[in-house]
Amino acid sequence: MRNIFFRNLVSPLTDIELIKNGFSIHKPFTWKRQIFYWNEINDVRFSSDNTQLILNTKRKIKTLNNDNIGWYELIQNIPENYSNFDYEYVKLFMKSLKACGVCGIIAVRKNECIVCETIAWNNGISDNQTEYLKSKQSDLYSDNLKEGIEIKKVAEPEHGFKADKNRKLYIKTTANKTYK
Ligand SMILES: [Zn+2]
Repeated sequence: MRNIFFRNLVSPLTDIELIKNGFSIHKPFTWKRQIFYWNEINDVRFSSDNTQLILNTKRKIKTLNNDNIGWYELIQNIPENYSNFDYEYVKLFMKSLKACGVCGIIAVRKNECIVCETIAWNNGISDNQTEYLKSKQSDLYSDNLKEGIEIKKVAEPEHGFKADKNRKLYIKTTANKTYK
C-alpha cells in the first residue's frame, strides 16, 4: 500500500529508510541495503537548488535525490550537529506544503503534489472541482480498485508527510460501498 502513492515518480525505486542512529538505502535490483550511520558522516548539506542531499563520509561523497522514496522523511531527521545543514529551510519547506485533495497527504508544493504528482485544482484547470478530484482519485486508485484492495477513507501519513484527515473521497472505496 505505502508505495502506491509513489508509483508515478520519475525514479521511485531507490528507497531510503531511517534506522537507529542512521539510515539505509535500497537501490532497485540489488539485494543488500546500504547502511549509513550518522557517526560515519562528517558533513550533510543541500545542493544549491535544495533538490539533493550531499553526505560526506570518511570514504566517499553520497548524493541522494529528492525523488528517492523517504527523502523528505530523512531531511526532517538529520541530527542537530551538522553546521552546514539548513535546518531552517526544512522547517519552512514543510510548513509551506498544502493538503492534496487527491491523495490526502499534505505535500502540495507550487500547485503540484510531491507524493501523487497531481496538479492541485484551480479555476484554470476546470470549473468543477469535485469532478476534477473525482477523476484524479480514480486514476490514482485504479490499481486498488482493479485488485479489490479497499481504499482507506482517512488518509494516513506517508514518508514524513502529514495527512489531511479531512480529505474527501469522491470514488468508491470498494466495489460495493460509496462515500459521498
Ligand atoms: Zn497528492
